[in-house]
Amino acid sequence: MSRIKFLNTYVDNLSMQEAVERIDKLIINKKPSYVVTPNVDHIVKLEIDSEFQDVYKEADLILTDGMPLIWISKLKNNPIKEKVSGSDLFPEVCNLASQKGYKIFLLGAAEGVAAKAAENLKLKYKELNVVGTYSPSYGFENNEDEINQIVDMINQVKPDILAVGLGAPKQEKFLYTFRKKLNVPVSLAIGASIDFEAGNINRAPKWMQNIGLEWFYRLCREPKRMFKRYIVDDIKIFKIIFKY
Ligand code: UDP
Repeated sequence: MSRIKFLNTYVDNLSMQEAVERIDKLIINKKPSYVVTPNVDHIVKLEIDSEFQDVYKEADLILTDGMPLIWISKLKNNPIKEKVSGSDLFPEVCNLASQKGYKIFLLGAAEGVAAKAAENLKLKYKELNVVGTYSPSYGFENNEDEINQIVDMINQVKPDILAVGLGAPKQEKFLYTFRKKLNVPVSLAIGASIDFEAGNINRAPKWMQNIGLEWFYRLCREPKRMFKRYIVDDIKIFKIIFKY
């Protein structure tokens, strides 16, 4: 098995290619499943959020998002072999979908952004079958009617893959809570990837991603929103490294 203990969770120690193969198998199996991609922020949130811990316990695939976690795994002498970020995985899964004829649904981001991402992805992956997009209204998670509408909308078009970008832990909790109602073989929690594919927000250059500075790029681009996440909250990772 690929699963190894890592800090306060488990992760699947897989390369990108192995992860895509596992997703393909999950789609073929047809049993509803979901994929999470932990980063430093998730690890910090997991320490204090028991519902988020439950989400992680039930996850079918746990892939490591971000170089800082790879460094920590090396420091702990239990190296994770590759960074498999949600935002790198998402285009790979679109590629798989276009080759195998899998249907995909995009849920998340601001109004119109998921539709724009679908347009761009269809240009990149010619055979890609996007069966629906929806950008929920702000605060939808407290509106039972809108949630039911979303679940129905997704189930009606029977996607093989549901890509959800609502930010953590909202997107993961949504997948966990509605996993039995959502009749989708594989759902992916992919954060800001819909924004990236829509060209709405620029992703850090590859070299910055590779040396583990993607967070710094995002902090510079959106200082107000990211300061709390990366400086105030995520500093707690040092305590967590010592604890486990
Ligand atoms: N978002 C959303 N609905 C919400 C909250 C967030 O659609 O109620 C979207 C937001 O527009 C953005 C994404 O969720 O596209 C949040 O991305 P974030 O930067 O938090 O994700 P990360 O990649 O850092 O996990």
